[in-house]
Amino acid sequence: MKTGLETRKKIIAYIVKKSSSLALIILFIVQSMNPFVAQCQVAINDRLIDSLIRVDWINDQTILVSFGSEAITAMKTERGIVVIDAGMSSGLTSRYRKIIEKEFESDDFRYVINSHGHHDHYRGNIVFKEVRVVAHENALEEISVQWKNQKKVADRLAMIAADYEKQMKELQPGSKEWIELFTQKTRCSFASKDAADSLPVKQPDLTFTDSLNLDMGDVTLELIHLGRCHSNSDLLICVPELHLLFTGDLFFKYGRPSMNEDLQPDLEKWQRSLAWLEKRDASIDKIIGGHGQILSRDDLESFMRKIGDKVQSQDKNRIGIEINQP
Ligand SMILES: [Zn+2]
Repeated sequence: MKTGLETRKKIIAYIVKKSSSLALIILFIVQSMNPFVAQCQVAINDRLIDSLIRVDWINDQTILVSFGSEAITAMKTERGIVVIDAGMSSGLTSRYRKIIEKEFESDDFRYVINSHGHHDHYRGNIVFKEVRVVAHENALEEISVQWKNQKKVADRLAMIAADYEKQMKELQPGSKEWIELFTQKTRCSFASKDAADSLPVKQPDLTFTDSLNLDMGDVTLELIHLGRCHSNSDLLICVPELHLLFTGDLFFKYGRPSMNEDLQPDLEKWQRSLAWLEKRDASIDKIIGGHGQILSRDDLESFMRKIGDKVQSQDKNRIGIEINQP
């Protein structure tokens, strides 16, 4: 009986090593029905995760590493590697780090930039222990509020992961929707584990108020705080030499701004940021969103228009209030 199980484990290990992601998905389902092969289940799960991590070269010194809707970008510069956003968990981000090191044949990381203070963009900072983390100063408060009670965070994330798992059972294994849920479930369960283990949060240690330039030798990263919008700490990051703009979670397709309605709009800062964007607009070729979306110039222009309209209408309201006031 034991020998049979050992042989089966060996066969599974062999298939895991050799198989495509579709075969792994099928194996994943079969194995999850069998309580005696938990060890193999972990190996299959690990291999499936690895097979679903994508690497896209944006230009000859920038890669986008993504897993479902999670994405981080790495840029190789004369003064070291810069990473934009760090993902949601140490488990996944340590895999991304290994991939970046392999692709660039270097582990000389200089900065990690958090596009804003939401946990799915900074929790993986811890994987870059020796690296300076750059963010807007408001991110510090956002982070400390979010991590006041790690146990509560762990439970909430575990609940979301369980919900994804339940939904997966209703779907065809290997289908687009199933894979999407699998990646979401994996992100949440890894993040829940970090919180349950009380893994420390690596806080940004290079913060700024309005704007900051990082001189990386061959390229410059220009960072500006847009003003409160999607979060309290939203950044736009422009790399003129590479014609790239990073927009975090500020907008998605069609330029639809992603605004947190509870936040007071930062009209003056939005206006200043629009001028900043207009100056750079013509030189931007590629726009990358905080979840790996490659956005178009139309999306950017539509976003700028919508923000501009909001500034104008708020200004009119403000003038209206002033006129109507006794
Ligand atoms: Zn966000």
